[in-house]
Amino acid sequence: MTKNTRILVTGAGGFIGHHLVRRLKAEGHWVRGADIKQPEYEPTAADEFEILDLREFDKCLLAVRSGIDEVYNLAADMGGIGFITANHADLARNNILINAHMLEASRLQGVKKFLFSSSACVYPQSKQKDPDVTPLKEEDAFPADPEPGYGWEKLYTEQLCGYYLQDYKFESRIVRFHNVYGPLGTYEGGREKAPAAISRKVALAGDGDSIEVWGDGLQTRSFMYIDDCVEGLLRLVASDYRAPLNLGTDRLVTINELVDLISRIASKKLRMCHDLSKPQGVRGRNSDNRRVLEVLGWEPSISLEEGLAATYAWIESELRKAGRMPKARTVGTGAH
Ligand code: NAD
Repeated sequence: MTKNTRILVTGAGGFIGHHLVRRLKAEGHWVRGADIKQPEYEPTAADEFEILDLREFDKCLLAVRSGIDEVYNLAADMGGIGFITANHADLARNNILINAHMLEASRLQGVKKFLFSSSACVYPQSKQKDPDVTPLKEEDAFPADPEPGYGWEKLYTEQLCGYYLQDYKFESRIVRFHNVYGPLGTYEGGREKAPAAISRKVALAGDGDSIEVWGDGLQTRSFMYIDDCVEGLLRLVASDYRAPLNLGTDRLVTINELVDLISRIASKKLRMCHDLSKPQGVRGRNSDNRRVLEVLGWEPSISLEEGLAATYAWIESELRKAGRMPKARTVGTGAH
């Protein structure tokens, strides 16, 4: 990618898209953002930002008009495990429309490279039944048994990118993200993911309180900080690697450990109240990073401690601005 590449970022009103736009602008490119909503927490850095419903083909054609070289297609109807479990039909339908239409519009408009944001949710549920899970390597995706709804759609669109390469020589790059977190991401309302949800609960709790944790907390995941995510995306798009590629860390932690880490950052001692009726997704999921190291000569490296500290600080400051932080308790003196 040379300076002044003309780039379209879809989902630019969302978490990863917003950060990506900022980085692309800092590197000197011309960027158009498209989304059904503006970024929630700060204005976009994009040269143009258009509100477009990309489930509609004519809106996709509009989004890629006038000489776009590269498309980062991050638009998707998605959320945390509660949200994707409760909305199989909507998510699968909305996302297949966005992705199929964006691919075809990009091909027709002569786009040179198309980044498709897939997910670790494409991996078979049968390989993720143990918290001490074997890290998932790219070829584990078949035989297919992905996350219902959202995961099936991602896996199908990966295939569609492959058909576009075979039949039209249309170039895609396919990234399988593993749990991205960081500042400026949704932290409440139902679409938030575990690191943001836990940060919010910890921030709103008083020292010594208990917070709700979904499942028994022994389920495991790996988490990647947003700056590593954006760096990996740029490296993948610049590469000539066309098959799906993991992008995540391979440090496996339980959700209980995640709560402990965030509580420590907040300097609070909290008890956990496990709600076993809440969805927890697969039992364990980790990224095998051998391929990303081989292909990009790089892997995500920002530590969970560092990334969570920045994320927690941002969520706490948002809650403070909204006047929602609990008052610190006065200890021992009896003073009020
Ligand atoms: P996000 O929800 O913050 O961003 C997605 C954006 O897409 C939102 O701003 C949303 O408004 C927009 N969108 C939804 N429907 C649209 C439509 N019809 N037309 C136009 N825009 C629409 O999510 P994110 O975390 O930034 O994720 C970006 C991409 O990465 C998505 O494709 C997601 O599936 C994928 N992904 C993310 C993670 C993660 O941990 N964040 C993990 C795996 C995959």
